[in-house]
Amino acid sequence: MARKIGSRYTAHQILGRGSAGTVWLGEGPEGAVAIKLLREDLASDQELVGRFVQERAALLGLEDPHVVGVRDLVVDGNDLALVMDLVRGTDLRTRLERERRLAPEAAVAIAADVADGLVAAHAARIVHRDVKPENVLLDMQGPLGPGGAHPALLTDFGIARLVDSPRRTKATKVIGTPDYLAPEIIEGLPPRASVDVYALATVLYEMLAGFTPFGGGHPGAVLRRHVTESVAPLPGIPDELWQLLVQCLAKAPASRLRAPELAARLRELLPGLAGMPPLDIDEPDGEQPEDDADGAAGAREEAFYPSSGAGEATPPRGAVPLVQGSAPDSNRETHTSMRVPGPDELAGGAHGTARAPRAAGERRAGSARHRASPEAVRRRRIRLGAAAAAVVVAAGLGGWLASGDDGSGDATPGVHQQEPDAP
Ligand code: ADP
Ligand code: MG
Repeated sequence: MARKIGSRYTAHQILGRGSAGTVWLGEGPEGAVAIKLLREDLASDQELVGRFVQERAALLGLEDPHVVGVRDLVVDGNDLALVMDLVRGTDLRTRLERERRLAPEAAVAIAADVADGLVAAHAARIVHRDVKPENVLLDMQGPLGPGGAHPALLTDFGIARLVDSPRRTKATKVIGTPDYLAPEIIEGLPPRASVDVYALATVLYEMLAGFTPFGGGHPGAVLRRHVTESVAPLPGIPDELWQLLVQCLAKAPASRLRAPELAARLRELLPGLAGMPPLDIDEPDGEQPEDDADGAAGAREEAFYPSSGAGEATPPRGAVPLVQGSAPDSNRETHTSMRVPGPDELAGGAHGTARAPRAAGERRAGSARHRASPEAVRRRRIRLGAAAAAVVVAAGLGGWLASGDDGSGDATPGVHQQEPDAP
């Protein structure tokens, strides 16, 4: 069922569906393309269409082997379409759901590709602001690189931020996870290039470990960990790689490497990682109770859940009462009255270390917040996303979401053309 998009493109078949719309395999004057047809409610939003057109030049101008190129923006009647290079493959999230952890060489090769894409973007003074595995496409038709990794390309420059305004989020969709959010965004500073480096380091940690350094549990807890906790070491990780991760996950944006240096350092590490198997980190046996910096949550949960007798309903894992004495709420989307970290906490640097992951075979010491099955992870992400939207709006931390996305707080929403290097 072919469908005309503007005068130059034909959409042939659906490749996938995303939050913003449907991606079609299509054809244009120069051959096969991917066409992201925005949802009708987005396409009929005049303000959004206006912003898309505004972003046109920036999006079209970004050309790099590790960036999914945008060929055209088509506004045609009710259709608003983004014509992109066709990438024949899958996204990194899909690969991580299948394999959970990648061999360090493949993980570093993918991260280096994404870093190269960021180099090009930052040089064009574009901050991506939404680096995460979902936005990394793996080109299965490209040549195999180190560790058998296919070339990785960064996609969705500016797009997610254009369409994920809080207004729309409330009504129609959940925002993404806060797992990749740099601490300075949480503190309300404008996103500079260094937020992309932080997010990429988070993605690299996730490829190595099977979980993100600060993710898990209540989105408010995730936000707090980004600001206050230092990253827990990964058993068996080569020291140089670890140092690189720590540096790029630094709380202070100015302490992080810039994208060009990160790309170069990652590529230097590749030969030394050849043949190394994925890190042997214990599989979690399920979603664990959320813990806080002093590790008290496990004990607290125990107090709320005296050892259950046979036949008693098992409490929802991960649900920790926010108010002493209240029953835990299985629907965390309702947790809008969470405690928000105070300014002193936010400013005070690292107060704790994220609970250390264990090597396989080590005894589980208390709770951890590792991932459960991919299905559980997906469900949790959806819950977390919805809860994060509610929490952020309710907590008045809305700066990181609202800045620019609703067109009110920033002159250039979407693709942010800012000083990439200023801390
Ligand atoms: P959104 O970010 O709007 O939620 P996605 O970008 O994730 O949507 O796209 C949805 C699906 O379409 C994904 O499964 C992805 O694999 C596929 N897709 C997106 N862009 C391309 C592309 N340029 N080439 C091939 N497939 C793509
Ligand atoms: Mg996307």
